[in-house]
Amino acid sequence: AKKAGRNTLSFFDPEMQETINLRAALENELREAIAHHQFELYYQIQMHSSGRVLGAEALVRWLHPQRGVVQPQEFIPLAEESGLILSLGQWVLEAACIELGNWRQNPLLSALTLSVNVSARQFHQANFVRQVKECVRRYGVNPARLKLELTESMLLDNTDGIIASMKELKALGIQFSLDDFGTGYSSLQYLKRLPLDQLKIDQNFVRDIVKDGNDEAIVRTIIAMAQSMELDFIAEGVETEEQKQVLLSYGCTHYQGYLFSKPVPLKAFQQLVREAVEK
Ligand code: C2E
Ligand code: CA
Ligand code: CA
Ligand code: CA
Repeated sequence: AKKAGRNTLSFFDPEMQETINLRAALENELREAIAHHQFELYYQIQMHSSGRVLGAEALVRWLHPQRGVVQPQEFIPLAEESGLILSLGQWVLEAACIELGNWRQNPLLSALTLSVNVSARQFHQANFVRQVKECVRRYGVNPARLKLELTESMLLDNTDGIIASMKELKALGIQFSLDDFGTGYSSLQYLKRLPLDQLKIDQNFVRDIVKDGNDEAIVRTIIAMAQSMELDFIAEGVETEEQKQVLLSYGCTHYQGYLFSKPVPLKAFQQLVREAVEK
């Protein structure tokens, strides 16, 4: 049997076989982690140029029993390929709604919005709208404080169906933000059809805004587009005071990035909000 096994495997590059095994092992581990809720939401603060706190983006972390805190780039792509993103995404949505329900009772936090990332497969599920409605109702969330972050690429097929789902959620007061904006190829014509509230300027353009003339032009164009569509816009990946000043000079007053804080656990986020209020 051993010999036959070896012959079968000889078609494969052993390194490739190892990659496949590792992948399968990680997928199993991830499935277990979802079953045992080994995740936590971290919160990254979003600020207005006036120093006022706007809200936060919820970013998931895997609390691995041996490896500690695992970053999403190490498991979100696999979760998406394997379909596990459906149950993980449902957990994220529920955890975010539980928190937003708590915030409603807290004068320090009740006016803040919480942005939640939604992956393509999750949004395309037939019962996604119902899941969101259920969550909002069950946890007493003020829908106006929930912002769903979508990406351009996921909006390209079945556009009419997507617009219908978005409109149904918008009717409740839920907001939509278009993440990583500027990295896709959507036309203004197309974007105008989507019932969006906000564009998120991708961090790739913010990174080199101070020294790169091209990125400066892109950011100016994005801001002009947002203004012509009467949408809010927020810059992500703001790391330096200089970047913030350049953005402000273009009329961008909403920021998210390491200049203000990395994503942090809930307690630390609440402390940041308290400090911002006391300033
Ligand atoms: P994203 O949605 O574009 O989130 C922004 C990422 O940029 C976060 O990485 C954040 O930590 C990082 N970031 C924020 N400010 C700065 C900065 O000033 N400089 C730099 N260099 N980076 C900054 P994170 O938390 O590792 O998440 C990576 C990606 O994983 C997210 O990108 C998102 O696509 C995905 N993700 C995270 N949480 C979820 C989730 O709950 N559901 C889904 N579907 N995807 C998620
Ligand atoms: Ca995001
Ligand atoms: Ca982003
Ligand atoms: Ca990104």
